[in-house]
Amino acid sequence: MSELATENNPLLVAIVGSGPSGFYACEALLKSDLAVKVTMLERLPSPYGLVRSGVAPDHPKLKQAIQVYAKIAEDENFRLLANVTVGKDISVAELLDTHHFVIFANGAESDRKLGIPGEDLPGSHTATEFVGWYNGHPDYRETTFDLSHHTAVIIGQGNVAADVARILSKSVDELRHTDIAEHALDVLSESKIKEIHVVGRRGPAQVKFTPKELREFENLELCQTIIDPAELILNPESGAELEDKSNSGQRKIYQQLSKLADIQGPSKARSCQFTFLKSPSKLLGSERLERIEFERNALSGEALSQSARGTGDTFELNAGLLFRSIGYRGVAMPGLPFDNNKGLIPNIEGRIVENGEHLTGLYVTGWIKRGPTGIIGTNRADSVATVQSLMEDLKTLDAEIDKSGADGVCNLLLSRNVRYVSFEEWKKIDQSEIDRGQPKEKPREKFTYIREMLELI
Ligand SMILES: Cc1cc2nc3c(=O)[nH]c(=O)nc-3n(C[C@H](O)[C@H](O)[C@H](O)COP(=O)(O)OP(=O)(O)OC[C@H]3O[C@@H](n4cnc5c(N)ncnc54)[C@H](O)[C@@H]3O)c2cc1C
Repeated sequence: MSELATENNPLLVAIVGSGPSGFYACEALLKSDLAVKVTMLERLPSPYGLVRSGVAPDHPKLKQAIQVYAKIAEDENFRLLANVTVGKDISVAELLDTHHFVIFANGAESDRKLGIPGEDLPGSHTATEFVGWYNGHPDYRETTFDLSHHTAVIIGQGNVAADVARILSKSVDELRHTDIAEHALDVLSESKIKEIHVVGRRGPAQVKFTPKELREFENLELCQTIIDPAELILNPESGAELEDKSNSGQRKIYQQLSKLADIQGPSKARSCQFTFLKSPSKLLGSERLERIEFERNALSGEALSQSARGTGDTFELNAGLLFRSIGYRGVAMPGLPFDNNKGLIPNIEGRIVENGEHLTGLYVTGWIKRGPTGIIGTNRADSVATVQSLMEDLKTLDAEIDKSGADGVCNLLLSRNVRYVSFEEWKKIDQSEIDRGQPKEKPREKFTYIREMLELI
């Protein structure tokens, strides 16, 4: 056999997950000087991970990353096998049998829990469910949200919490021409929510929004933004934090919060209030969520490492809906080690490790490697670093080992009656979604059931 990673004996790499980190890993591999063939496996019939099913429908520019990924997918050395769940339809060991290397880019698909009484009452949801529902993710197609209540509460102060608050705040006309799922638009059009509270456990100097996301709350058609100026008064340590040179980003966020607090205007049908230094301690209700008990917090510790502690001072708020948006967690993959505390696959520089030892051939990138941090672009550098580790390890691989690559995987899937979806077939689904959107002046009307997508092809 010829040398590995040459035209006659290309390096065969399987990538699990078709979100940003998977595609950036693919790009780094295909751009290298070596002969590489990539098999990308994705559990849904549709690719692109959270760019399709997480990024808010009213942020279409951010979804343009998809065009970059679609171009990568046109490379002759790329093969998509979508509608295939790794760990169920095919095992990690089988991927390693058929490929020289496997990169896991399967994201962080579960949520952190609050761990308080009443958390599972009807009316208490994760942001993931709501985001997946309005973005047409098939997992959440049958999830229902009762928007007949007066008050909704969002726990968490990062950009996902801001997305949820914005979707609840906006009028249907503000959303109508986005790619929001039709079933969500129908339910939102009947929404009776008048008050939205976005609650953070720490203070206004520690929130995780970006100024751009906050600016969008300056001028919403139906909804006025409320921030009590008294809540923006900082303790000395938080003041010092904002003065710190290393913390200029946080200073800008605080300035944007102050700007929102200053906005005066006529009252509107809805309000969205940002409030700080409070944690939910109990969710209360007989059959479903009716009230939330909050505890007021105080910050303690030195500037830049303050934490929020409960003061024992509690109060209740009537609310029929709650969304928790306090962070994402990875899901354990059968056949791979998992760090249960951090919710990710343990790794050193992208090499999957168990008891400190690298598991030969196995790599990880993106949210399942480093946790749910950063923006879409952050995943590029992360994936380049993982591919670099993989390339370094290439020297130790035995070029004589014969692997069957994507064809081997397809044979296994066919023998199990798994209907995999190719990129060409996805393009057909994609075009059909675009066509369905046109009469409604939407960029697309997504298919929200897997069976609808499979019927089409
Ligand atoms: C609600 C929300 C909104 C966001 N908005 C923005 C934004 O506006 N701007 C921005 O820059 N960033 C945004 N982000 C962050 C951005 O989406 C992430 O940085 C990025 O998607 C992480 O990429 P990833 O490839 O690691 O994971 P993902 O995008 O989650 O991709 C993982 C893929 O793996 C697949 N998969 C999972 N398990 C398996 C399996 N067993 N077998 C096969 N496939 C599997 C999943 O279906 C998915 O397609 C947002 C994130 C969220 C949650």
